[in-house]
Amino acid sequence: MSVVACAPILWAVMNCGRAAILLLVGFWFDAAAVRGDTEVALASGGRSDYRIVVAKDCPPPVNYAARELQSYLGKIAGARLPIVADAEPPRPHEIWVGRSSRLDSLAVAMDWATLGKEGYVLRTVGERLVIAGGEPRGTLYGVYGLLEDHFGCRWFTPEIERVPRARQLPLPRLDERKAPAFEYRETYTWESYDGNWMARNRLNGAGGRGRLLERQNIRPPAPELDARHGGSVRFGFGFFVHTFDKLVSSNVFFATHPEYFALRKGKRKATQLCCTNEDVIRLCAGAILAGMRAQPETTVFSLSQSDNKELCECDRCTTLEKAEGTGMGPLLHLVNCVAEAVEKEFPDKIVETLAYQWSRQPPKTMRPRRNVVIRLADIECCFAHPLASGCTEANKKFVADLQAWAKACNRLWIWDYTTDYAHYLLPLPNKRLLDDNIRLFAANRVAGVFEQGTYDTPDSEMVALKAYLIAKFLWNPACDEALATREFLDAYYGPAATVIHRYLDLIHDYAEKQPVHVGIYAKPTSAHLTPELLVQASLLWDEAETLAKKDAAALDRVRRSRMSVDYVIAEQARAAMKTADSKRSLQQRGLITLARSRFAMFMQTFERSKLTRIREWKDVDKADYRKTLAADLGL
Ligand SMILES: [Zn+2]
Ligand SMILES: [Zn+2]
Repeated sequence: MSVVACAPILWAVMNCGRAAILLLVGFWFDAAAVRGDTEVALASGGRSDYRIVVAKDCPPPVNYAARELQSYLGKIAGARLPIVADAEPPRPHEIWVGRSSRLDSLAVAMDWATLGKEGYVLRTVGERLVIAGGEPRGTLYGVYGLLEDHFGCRWFTPEIERVPRARQLPLPRLDERKAPAFEYRETYTWESYDGNWMARNRLNGAGGRGRLLERQNIRPPAPELDARHGGSVRFGFGFFVHTFDKLVSSNVFFATHPEYFALRKGKRKATQLCCTNEDVIRLCAGAILAGMRAQPETTVFSLSQSDNKELCECDRCTTLEKAEGTGMGPLLHLVNCVAEAVEKEFPDKIVETLAYQWSRQPPKTMRPRRNVVIRLADIECCFAHPLASGCTEANKKFVADLQAWAKACNRLWIWDYTTDYAHYLLPLPNKRLLDDNIRLFAANRVAGVFEQGTYDTPDSEMVALKAYLIAKFLWNPACDEALATREFLDAYYGPAATVIHRYLDLIHDYAEKQPVHVGIYAKPTSAHLTPELLVQASLLWDEAETLAKKDAAALDRVRRSRMSVDYVIAEQARAAMKTADSKRSLQQRGLITLARSRFAMFMQTFERSKLTRIREWKDVDKADYRKTLAADLGL
């Protein structure tokens, strides 16, 4: 796609339904000018001879695909193409959306079976354009593929999109077939909880939205992926993760049946289930069957360990563990038995378990059953360098386990981490390696990826950028990271984009070159955030604010993003205040001065932001934070 003559134009449209301002970042392009005038015009001068054709009884996602195409062609070319059913007599200028009698009568070879649920074909046939894919989501993804890859549309956040505009929009000559690298794609962050945005970026996961949030009584306001989007890959409600105690409740059974639970140093404890106990297997199978019957629309049911390391040491569990060389031995015994028990009634549903901490290594001889998904978690790793860099022993061991699982398992999913759970605002130098890690997963036959970000509050560190990049890489691991980053920063930060890019370079270059390794519970005093670096970062954010001062929306986003650096400056200064004045280093003194000078602005943005937590599981009391920080900084 050639893009010609384009000073960015900004304009705003009120989106009355949600009373939000939808910002459209657009520019003109005129592809016909570069392609020559022999092209057939899809639209020209705000008019179009084309119409969109769907099957008379097309399913909701195909109907929605046609409406999305109509809407975006309207925005791009200023022309409204009618949508008609295939019962109407054919005309020369048509866009065929989804499977219909048009395709069948012209014998356009589609090979539907190989398109799966989400693959699609874009093909020009004479002067007609075919957009068709597998059910349920392929056709809708085909529309977004056309708009994104060929017409230059982008959906950076639920509020910010880029829609190029064209006076002349030629019919593209297309013959392409695309399918996602992964069957399950989820970027689990607050800013992603918008079904429309997820569908447009071709994300399909609705994994933990239910369980993790609702048990904390958190309800994101945005709509989910629903029927018009072709649904989602959905975990059963209450069956998302760490389900042992839900399936066989220690409150109900421990007093009467302690043998259902882990034997630890000769005593039964309710830490984990005893995975080889026949009654435990029967109870787990019964609970999962009941869940599958009660929630027919959901796909995945987790049968996974509680979040602690105290697995059962009874004779049978220990024998299996020793024989298989891993705690996964007894766990997989349980999971395979349950998978077998539910398979007959629900051959297409999945029993999932975690390969996590003590169960992370694959067994020597046992293999997961056909309907089992193994979700391998990399919680121990360094996230300042690619997993494959081997920068730490933890990273080396994880990659070894990944490679072993790739051989031992036909349906391997990943649980990956993209934020700091002890300090949601902490700058994590992981934006450059998201694609490296996703490519590593793809190269090792991984079929699904759950990217756990900051899921329980808005406004955490660089969250919108991370969500966007992850969405791009999960659809296409070969997506150009530099281009995607630049496009996002331009749209999100406007005039401040290049300075924000320098800030990202600053924190990433330092962690890469030292190297400093950073886990997901790093403290504000982590070695990748030195006082010198923080001072430089603060100057860059000053510059960004100056550049964005005439653009209120960009300035607001700059300030909210700046909270990350202000937070670390404040917390490091708070720690330095505990050292006696006479013993403070020059850097510590500088940081205390900087923290005091930034305090008012930081607190103003902090209080105004939508951030409700600065760490996982716990709401922050903003007034109390202000009070104690002021006292600790001697203000
Ligand atoms: Zn046991
Ligand atoms: Zn590292």
